[in-house]
Amino acid sequence: MGSKIKFQSPTGMHDILPELFPYYKKVEKVSEKIADFYDFRRVETPILENAEIFKKGTGFSSDIVLKQMYSLRTKGGDFLTLRPEGTPSIVRAYLENGFESLPKPINLWHFGPFFRYERPQAGRFRQFYQVGFESLGSSDPIVDIIIIQIFLNLLKEIGFKNLIIEINSIGDFQCRPHYKRALTSYFRSYLKDLCPDCRERFDRNPLRILDCKNEKCQEIIASAPQTLDFLCKECHDHFKKVLEFLDYLEIPYELNPHLVRGLDYYTKTVFEIFIKKQEKKSKERIEEDEQDEQVGALVGGGRYDSLVRVLGGKDTPACGGALGVERVIEILKKTSKIGKTETKAGEIFLAQIGESAKRESLKILEEFRKAKIKHVGQALSKDSLTAQFKIADKLNVKYVLILGQKELLNKEIILREMKTGKQKTIPLKKVVKEVIKVLKKEK
Ligand code: AMP
Repeated sequence: MGSKIKFQSPTGMHDILPELFPYYKKVEKVSEKIADFYDFRRVETPILENAEIFKKGTGFSSDIVLKQMYSLRTKGGDFLTLRPEGTPSIVRAYLENGFESLPKPINLWHFGPFFRYERPQAGRFRQFYQVGFESLGSSDPIVDIIIIQIFLNLLKEIGFKNLIIEINSIGDFQCRPHYKRALTSYFRSYLKDLCPDCRERFDRNPLRILDCKNEKCQEIIASAPQTLDFLCKECHDHFKKVLEFLDYLEIPYELNPHLVRGLDYYTKTVFEIFIKKQEKKSKERIEEDEQDEQVGALVGGGRYDSLVRVLGGKDTPACGGALGVERVIEILKKTSKIGKTETKAGEIFLAQIGESAKRESLKILEEFRKAKIKHVGQALSKDSLTAQFKIADKLNVKYVLILGQKELLNKEIILREMKTGKQKTIPLKKVVKEVIKVLKKEK
C-alpha cells in the first residue's frame, strides 16, 4: 500500500479559518467607515500585474523586487507578478482608467491579499492582507497628515491605544543624491564590518543599508549621516509643516532620522505606526509587549511625488500608506473576543421526523429566509430527534420547531421553549408569523 500524501498550505501562507473571519471583517468594516468619512473611494486591482510595474515603481534595488516577487511567464508570453504591494497597482489603475483628467486629489482605498517571498516569522508572511489609502494629485503637506490621521483613526476605532508614529523626510530627487553621497563615503569606511547583504546594498543603493536589521549593521547605522541634514529648502519646509500639523493636533510622534523604508519611490515624508512601548509595566505586560513589538510596524507609508511620472503619467504628487491586517489581528486576538461573539447562532431551530416532514422542512426554511429571519438552525441530514436536539442544545437556541408525521398530517407544527420545556401547537401556515411574534416578545 502506498503511503498517503499529506498536503499542506505553502510555507508562509495560511488558511483563514471561520474563527478568524470576524476579525478580517471588522478591519474591513472599520476601513470602509473611515474611507466614507474622509471621501476615499474603493478600488480593487488584479492580484497579478505586469512585473515591470513593480520593477519600475517599487524599484530595481528594493528587496521586494530583488528577492521577494512571485513571478511567472504566462502561456501567452506575458511576464506577470503576484502583487507584492498596492501603490504601483493603484497608480497603474489611476492612469489606465482616466483618473488623471479628473479634479484632484483623487482619493482611493483598497483591501486585499499581497504576496512576498520573505522568511516567515512573527508578523511576516508570504501571503498577507493590507488596507491601503492613497491620495493622488496634491503636494500640500496637509495630505500627509490626513493619511496619517486616517490610519491612526482606523487603528483607534479597531480598539488600539498607545500608538506612536515614527516619521522622517527622505528628501526628493534634488537633495537625495547629496545624502546618498554622504552615506556612501560613511559606509565605505565600514565596508568589511557590514553583513554580506549590506555589502551588496552598498554597490546598488546605500540607502537600503539603513533598513538592515543585523545587529552589527545597526551599530554602524546609528552614527550614519541623517537625511534631515541634507534636505533642500522645499523638502525642509514641507517636513516642517508636517511636524507643525502633528504638534497642532497633539499626535504623538518620534523623529527617526534613519527611517527610509524599503521602496524606491518615496519622496519627502515617510512614516510608520507602532504600538508604543510602555514605561512602567508588570512582568506579563513586558512579555505581551515584547510579542507585540516583534510583530513590527502596523502601518507604513509616505509621499511618492514621482511614481505617477515613472509609470507613464504626468508629474503628480501623491501620498499614501498601508496597514498590515494580520499584524493588527495578531494583537487584536489577545484583547478582543470578536470571533466568539460573532459565531453566536440564531434563536430558532427546526427539527423534523420522517421523510415527508424532512421534505416539508426545506419549504419552511425557505419561508423563514424570505421573511428575512437571520438564522434558522437545522440538522436536516439527521433522522433521530435526539441527535437534532443535541445540536440545538449546542447552538443554545431558545425555541425548537418540531415537525413530525402527525403534525404534518394535521398541517401543524410544535413550538417548544427550551428553557421551560413548554410547548404549543401552531398552524403550519402561520409558522413564520408566530415565530416572529414570539421572538419580538423576547426583546
Ligand atoms: P509595506 O508595504 O512594506 O510598506 O508594509 C506596510 C505594512 O504591511 C507593514 O507595516 C506591515 O504591517 C504589513 N506587512 C508588510 N509585509 C508584511 C508581511 N510579509 N507579512 C505581514 N504583514 C506585512
